[in-house]
Amino acid sequence: MTDVLDRAPTLDGVLETIGAREDEIVALTQELIRFPTVNPPGDVYRPCAEHLGERLRRRGFDVTYVRAEGTPGDTDAYPRWNVVARRELGGGPGRCVHFNGHLDVVEAGRGWTIDPFEGLVKDGRVYGRGACDMKGGIAAAVVAAEALIDSGLSLPGAIEISGTVDEESGGYGGVAYLAERGWFTPPRVDHVIIPEPLNVDRVCIGHRGVWWAEVETKGRIAHGSMPFLGDSAIRHMGALLERIEHELYPALAARRSDMPVVPEGARQSTLNINSIHGGQAEPGDGGLPSPVVADSCRMVLDRRFLIEESLDDVRGEVSALLETLAAERPEFAYDLRELFAVQPTMADRNGPVATATAAAVRRVLGRDAAIVCSPGTYDQKHVDRIGRLKECIAYGPGVLDLAHQPDEWVGIADMVASAKVMALAAADLLTRPR
Ligand SMILES: [Zn+2]
Repeated sequence: MTDVLDRAPTLDGVLETIGAREDEIVALTQELIRFPTVNPPGDVYRPCAEHLGERLRRRGFDVTYVRAEGTPGDTDAYPRWNVVARRELGGGPGRCVHFNGHLDVVEAGRGWTIDPFEGLVKDGRVYGRGACDMKGGIAAAVVAAEALIDSGLSLPGAIEISGTVDEESGGYGGVAYLAERGWFTPPRVDHVIIPEPLNVDRVCIGHRGVWWAEVETKGRIAHGSMPFLGDSAIRHMGALLERIEHELYPALAARRSDMPVVPEGARQSTLNINSIHGGQAEPGDGGLPSPVVADSCRMVLDRRFLIEESLDDVRGEVSALLETLAAERPEFAYDLRELFAVQPTMADRNGPVATATAAAVRRVLGRDAAIVCSPGTYDQKHVDRIGRLKECIAYGPGVLDLAHQPDEWVGIADMVASAKVMALAAADLLTRPR
């Protein structure tokens, strides 16, 4: 192999370097997987952040560790440590391209046929919890940045890489905390790429909104042999379910979005009834439950909404159903509690970060990138809403469907290809006039 540094620096040289560093991408992915950064509770965040930070420090980055003190879950046993690394590229002042990845993973769960925290390499894949979501993406971004730095290209501006925590639990101790303190706001940062596993040929410009709520219907307890003396909270909930089935679901299905959400089934408003709990708990010892009329029934709703809908409309739709029932059904009483809300977000598909990444996909893979939105939410919302930076997309290796599954893996060829795309996109963005 010829040494690419002997020749005049070119973008093709950067791509060659990345191709030659496949083993480094694999090794870094394995190293990150071996930190079981399971959230909750938020384990080994600091050592994992340090592993990433110290590598980047050796490559000339200024590295800062930020603990999100006082955020949900932050305790001395489980401190919320984030790392942000910045490197000026030496070609004078200019833009900053920021790669942000979350270090936390969900629990391994059951069904694994291999050790989830070993980082097994087999058949062109790296296996492990977080391989695809999203330690493989972080490794690809790191090697992409290092290849640009080593290329000898004279680039203005700066590259930043952050490893942040708690994305899987809302991002409050991670990107949200940093965004509140200006880490994701211009002029410090101009473009953000989040290497979430959206597939190597897709540029993800945003995500739908989320509204979680708990509805409780109230009843009156009585003996089960004389239910007419009580009032069943479960029957009241049944009436609500009937309305949801016959009125709300058809209305949601008819609501189409301009957001290019994938898969196709998510290109509309959706509702999942997450859980229902009503009546007496069954005894755990195998005995019979007591015969009583249910005095309470609770249901958790997970509503995903579109950029064309407002959060107030989403809330109002469920309130209206409940109010109709309160007017129609004797003794219908309820509580509606909001648990969690996230606004939808969408970057400009014709903006610099989306177009630069799409052009890089075309050059590296030889086919057009699909412009998509994610059905679920990720940290882009905080960059947009708190950091006030719209120039943020998700682009990275890995198949989204594998995230959070047993035997999660990421393809090595995809990591290499996505590292090339990220390097080209960054070089393009950095060399645009400010
Ligand atoms: Zn993720």
